[in-house]
Amino acid sequence: MLVVFLLCGWLKILEAQEVIFGHKKYTEYHVGNMSLILTAPHGGSLIPSSIPSRDAGCWKKAVGKCYYRHPCPSETVKDTVNCKVNVLSDLYTQEMVFAVAKEICHLTSGSCPHIVINNLSRSKLDANREKLEAAFGVHEAEQAWEEFMGFIQHAKSNMSQGLLLDIHGQAHPEQWIELGYLISKANLNSGNFSASGTSIYALSTRQLNVTFESLLRGNQSLGKFIEDENIEYVTVPSPSNPRPKSGNYFSGGYIVKTYGSQMTGDVDAIQIELPKWIRKTTELPKFAAMLAKAILNYYDFNVKH
Ligand SMILES: [Zn+2]
Repeated sequence: MLVVFLLCGWLKILEAQEVIFGHKKYTEYHVGNMSLILTAPHGGSLIPSSIPSRDAGCWKKAVGKCYYRHPCPSETVKDTVNCKVNVLSDLYTQEMVFAVAKEICHLTSGSCPHIVINNLSRSKLDANREKLEAAFGVHEAEQAWEEFMGFIQHAKSNMSQGLLLDIHGQAHPEQWIELGYLISKANLNSGNFSASGTSIYALSTRQLNVTFESLLRGNQSLGKFIEDENIEYVTVPSPSNPRPKSGNYFSGGYIVKTYGSQMTGDVDAIQIELPKWIRKTTELPKFAAMLAKAILNYYDFNVKH
């Protein structure tokens, strides 16, 4: 009887999760009820003809600068070398975010993360760049960018301390999971960094009895909690792989820079870059269930204190 009651309560909460759409459903926000935000800026596939495609920026040789505009301003030329933009989407990252969120709702009997999704293809909007490079000055794309960022800000506004996880996909040959904290590969390798320049600075100020090394790649790091669940999901940085060494590594982009605690506030952010094999439909459910547990362990240990 109790089980039925609890199950009904949980389903009710899941059904009740409000969804807010941006203009033309280019963006969407699933309102959560915990201090956790999951974002997927590069998982969209919509290619409306009303938004010209992002191909390359416009190069002004005299000043050595790129202008991201449609069409190119005078005295500039489209330049796919100097002003290259990435238009490749991160496949199955929306599916991953929804699967992880569902697992978290289930494991907590109804505490669900906020979810912010960009449904536009990256060839139309890059929601992990500053507005100009993201939208090329196209009004419709700019509106979607503002709505996407507004949803994150709204989710954050209801939190004191919290955590944002920005989910991406990459095709690096190492095929490992890359956790980005705004520390470059060279600095992770050399150890030349301090907590204050990172996207988890607030966490370091809450956990004064724990070294930053431990929070970043030691016993209280997200890498450790992932390893604890399943060591086959090789993660960098983590206790087993504290440094990328000569391997490929993404250190974090616009979202973790803007909405993590590097500049201000008490909400931390980590970029999670997933290899292809983990996003395949055969692996995705298993990985999502694992990641949900690892995130909750990290959250319980580091956020709710
Ligand atoms: Zn990405």
